Amino acid sequence: LPEKGANFLEQIIIDDLKSGKVKTVATRFPPEPNGYLHIGHAKSICLNFGLAEKFNGTCNLRFDDTNPEKEEPEYENAIIRDVEWLGFKWQRLCYASDYFQQFYEWAIELISQGKAYVDHQTADEIRENRGTLTQPGIESPYRNRTVEENLYLFEKMKNGGFDEGECVLRAKIDMAHPNLNMRDPVIYRILKKPHYHAGDNWCIYPLYDFAHGYEDAIEGITHSICTLEFENHRPLYDWFLDNVSIPSRPHQYEFARLNLSYTVMSKRFLLGLVNRGIVSGWDDPRMPTISGLRRRGYTPSSIRRFCDEIGVSRVESIVDIEFLHHVIREELNQTATRVMAVLRPLKVVIDNYPEGKIEELVADNNPEDPDYGTRIIQFSRNIFIEQEDFMENPPKKFFRLAPGREVRLKHAYIITCQEIVKDSSGNIVEVHCTYDPNSRSGSDLSGRKVKGTLHWVAEEVAIRATVRLYDHLFTLKNLSDMEEGKTYSDYLNPDSLITLDHCLVEPSITQAKPLDRFQFLRQGYFCADIDHTPEKPLFNRIVSLKDTWAK
Ligand code: ATP
Ligand code: MG
Ligand code: MG
Repeated sequence: LPEKGANFLEQIIIDDLKSGKVKTVATRFPPEPNGYLHIGHAKSICLNFGLAEKFNGTCNLRFDDTNPEKEEPEYENAIIRDVEWLGFKWQRLCYASDYFQQFYEWAIELISQGKAYVDHQTADEIRENRGTLTQPGIESPYRNRTVEENLYLFEKMKNGGFDEGECVLRAKIDMAHPNLNMRDPVIYRILKKPHYHAGDNWCIYPLYDFAHGYEDAIEGITHSICTLEFENHRPLYDWFLDNVSIPSRPHQYEFARLNLSYTVMSKRFLLGLVNRGIVSGWDDPRMPTISGLRRRGYTPSSIRRFCDEIGVSRVESIVDIEFLHHVIREELNQTATRVMAVLRPLKVVIDNYPEGKIEELVADNNPEDPDYGTRIIQFSRNIFIEQEDFMENPPKKFFRLAPGREVRLKHAYIITCQEIVKDSSGNIVEVHCTYDPNSRSGSDLSGRKVKGTLHWVAEEVAIRATVRLYDHLFTLKNLSDMEEGKTYSDYLNPDSLITLDHCLVEPSITQAKPLDRFQFLRQGYFCADIDHTPEKPLFNRIVSLKDTWAK
C-alpha cells in the first residue's frame, strides 16, 4: 500500500482497509451524458480509475442519466470513446436510468414512513419558501398529508395523471435546517419526455441528490468521490441512504475540481461555443475537451501524467495551462520525429550552386534517440527559409540571415547573403546567397563558426501544406476574475486560431497519417489533423518549443 506520500483520498482508503470498514475498494466515474468530457473530467477519471488500480479494486463507468432533457446517445458514445482512449477499463458499464424502478420503490419506502410528500406548490413558490441562511423556510400547506394520500398521489404522478409542473415529490426533513439543502428537497418531478436510454416508461424523473447515493449503493460503491461543491450536499446523501434499506452503504468524499488558466470547464458554456459556431465542434483543437486535446495532438499518457502531477487536494486552485503544455512538450521531445517545415516562406537562390542539381543529405530523425534513425533530405539551388529568419536592417544580436551575414542551413551548408530582390512595392521577394562547398554538415572543412542555424526546404521537392496555429481560447488568465456584468463570451480571444495556407514541408511527411506527431524544427510540435490527406496536408500545432512554465 502506498502509505508514504499518499494523498488524502488514498489515506482514507488505507485507513478504511486497515480498520476493516471496507474489504475491497469500489469507485465509479459518473458523467451525465449531456456533453463531451473535458480535462476536468480527466482528473476525475484518473482519480477514480487510478484508486481502483492502486488498491486492486474496481471502477464502474456509470452514466448519471436522470435528466432526459439534455442527454443524448452522441454524448454517451463520445464519453465511452474518451475513457477508452485514456486507457482505462471499467468493471461495469452502468446507467442510473436502469435503476428507475428501484428508485421508485425507495421513494415509496420514504413516503410510507412519512418521510416524503407530494407538493402542489409551483417551482417558484418552493424556491421562495425555502428561506435563507438567516431565516427558516415556510412549510408547504401540503406537507402534512397522510401517508395514504401521498402514496395515491405519487402513483398518480407516475401514471401520468398530472401535468408537468403540477406537483413534485419532496423529502420531509426540516424546513428550518441550517443547511438549505436539507429543507425538504425535491426528489421527483414530472417530465413527459422519453428518455434516450430508458425509453418512454417513465414520466417522473428523480433528482441528483436523491438518486446519486442510491446508484452508489446499488453498485456497491465504497468511496463515492465528487467535487467540493457537493460538500454541503453530503448530509442529504447520507439522509437518503439512512432512511431506506439498501444493499450496501457508500460514503461520499470531496476533492477540489480542476480549473485551468485561460479556459473554462463548463459543459454548458462549451456547448454554447459549439452551437454558436465559435469553434468548429466539441473536438476543435482549442477546446479543453478530451476530444479537442486528442485532435490537437495530446497523447493519453500526457493527460494521465498531467492529472497525476497536479495531484488531489481539498484546496481550490487554478492550474497554469502552461503546465499542460510543458507535459506534452517533454513527452514529444522524446518521441516526435523531426522534420523541416517553413511556415511563411521566403525564397533563397544559391547562385554558386549548380542549376538542376539535387543533392541528398542525411538528417537524424530524433537527436534524443538514435533508434529513430535517419532519413534523406534534398538540397538544391532554390530553397525556402522562414520570412522571419531574414532582416534587411538587423539589430546587432540578430544571428539569422541579413545582407553580408552568414548562417548554417540545418543538415546542409553555410550560406552568405549577397543580394536582395524586391518587387515594385518594395517587398523582399528573393534573397541571393552563395554557399561554401566545404561546409557540409558532418564533413565540415571550412573552419568557420556561425551562430545561427536555419531550417529550410528545397523548392523542387517541397510539399504545400496548411498549418493551424493556436492560442488560448480566452484572453483572461483566471476567468473567475471576470468583471461584473460580463460573461465568458466577452473574453474570447479573436486570435485563438491562425491558419497559414502556404506552408512548405519536406516530402517525408507525405507518409503522415491523421494524428501522427512531428517536431517541425524550431517551430514546435505538430500533429496531422484528422482531416489530413496526402493531397491536402493539414497540420495543427500542439505547442511551440518555448517552455514558459515556471514551477
Ligand atoms: P460541468 O459543470 O462541466 O457540466 P459536471 O460536473 O456537471 O461538469 P458530470 O458529467 O456530472 O459533469 O461530471 C462527472 C464527474 O466529473 C463528476 O463526478 C464531477 O465531479 C467530475 N468533474 C466535473 N468537472 C470536474 C473538474 N473540473 N475537475 C474535476 N472533476 C470534475
Ligand atoms: Mg454533474
Ligand atoms: Mg453539469
